[in-house]
Amino acid sequence: MGLTVIVSSRSKEEVIYNRLKTKEKKTKWRFVIPVFGIILIVCIVLLFFKLEGGLPQVQMSPESIFIGLRRDLTISASDEKSGLKKVRAALIKDGREIVLIDETFSSPDFFSGSDEKRKSYPLVIEPKKLGIQDGKGTLRIIAVDASWRNWLSGNTVWVEKEFTIDTHPPQVAVLSKFHYLNQGGTGLVIYKISEPSPQNGVMVGDRFFPGYSGQFQDPLTYLSYFALDHKQGPGTTVFIQATDEAGNSVRAGFSHQIKPKSFKKDVITISDEFLNNKMPEFDDDLGDGASGSPIDRFLKVNRELRERNYRQIVEICKNPERKKHWEGPFLRLPNSGPQAGFADHREYLYQGKVIDSQFHLGVDLASLEQSPVPASNAGKVIFADQLGIYGKTIIIDHGLGLFSMYSHLSRFDIQTGQLADKGRVIGHTGLTGLAGGDHLHFSIIIHHTFVHPVEWWDPLWIQKRIDAKLNGAESD
Ligand SMILES: [Zn+2]
Repeated sequence: MGLTVIVSSRSKEEVIYNRLKTKEKKTKWRFVIPVFGIILIVCIVLLFFKLEGGLPQVQMSPESIFIGLRRDLTISASDEKSGLKKVRAALIKDGREIVLIDETFSSPDFFSGSDEKRKSYPLVIEPKKLGIQDGKGTLRIIAVDASWRNWLSGNTVWVEKEFTIDTHPPQVAVLSKFHYLNQGGTGLVIYKISEPSPQNGVMVGDRFFPGYSGQFQDPLTYLSYFALDHKQGPGTTVFIQATDEAGNSVRAGFSHQIKPKSFKKDVITISDEFLNNKMPEFDDDLGDGASGSPIDRFLKVNRELRERNYRQIVEICKNPERKKHWEGPFLRLPNSGPQAGFADHREYLYQGKVIDSQFHLGVDLASLEQSPVPASNAGKVIFADQLGIYGKTIIIDHGLGLFSMYSHLSRFDIQTGQLADKGRVIGHTGLTGLAGGDHLHFSIIIHHTFVHPVEWWDPLWIQKRIDAKLNGAESD
């Protein structure tokens, strides 16, 4: 047979040649297999990364869904894996689409992703310039990454937020009448706002006194207790300010009259005996500042510690109870005589020289030593502790920004967090803190401002200036 003939007729050289060829082929395969393997692994790894399914992230800050006359807004998009391929944001309102962002990022070559891993877009939206009316609309943000997923079109994140365009400031209608105010005194104003306004209250000079809703049937009727400090006389600017959820602000004046008040001057003589007796009490408060002569320490106490204690009081009174705890005129320390008045301008005399001056922002009342001190009205005790120059002090929160404070006590008869009925004994008078003799230092605070307590002791003032307004029956 032919085949047999050929095989048998192969020369020796031919056999050797064929063997060599087979060996060569085998050697070739030996290289080709690992190369393919590596390519395969590279492809798997590449596909693993190129086909990543992580969604791009989008963020909007601030988060508020309100747009007022002008809204500053930052939209950020990021994709840490493949990078961003496309970012688009638009406002959809009344069937119109207003494009805010439309950016496409190219990849440097086919294999690498996008270099743009994250990008922020600071935007200013001014509805009037864009020709959009007030009302509801949608903010749509789309971000696409450079992944090979979805047949090379990438992972897409699509965020839609409903927003409200409100370019009109709220309207304020003042409901209370006749605001007769005293320098260093308290005022109450009641007003209605046309729309919910998270920020509203009374501005007196540069101080803000918040307004509270929930005190009347109408949820948009607010009240605000405000104060003129001892230096704020006629000419002080007083107005209601309201800012709606979209940030539109309005200022509304209201009829008022400020009566000037003059306060006394007082001289306090500082003796060495007083310094030696009193200054060690403040070593802890002064810390490193406790060194120096007794008079240096006194000045630190009278200036720096007084200021620090004021800031502590403001902090303590920061979140008033949202309900009125008190009723009727406030009580005075029984059987007591006044020692020092509100806003007395005190000069401190040492060895015949004036070394300091301060305002006395309370009333000093003296009775027998360690007399029981009643709560001047009902409220919640929010502080009963040592307070620097004021010594052992109690602060009662009567609600809606009205507080009473009792200082230089010798002991406490109530604890922080407890409710006090009007007249309940809360402590006893003493001379802790910067006090020369046993007395009660009594203060009334409106949010953060000390006012003359005399108004709050006066039944007629309470009736005409507060209760009549709250009852909506003006009797002036
Ligand atoms: Zn005092």
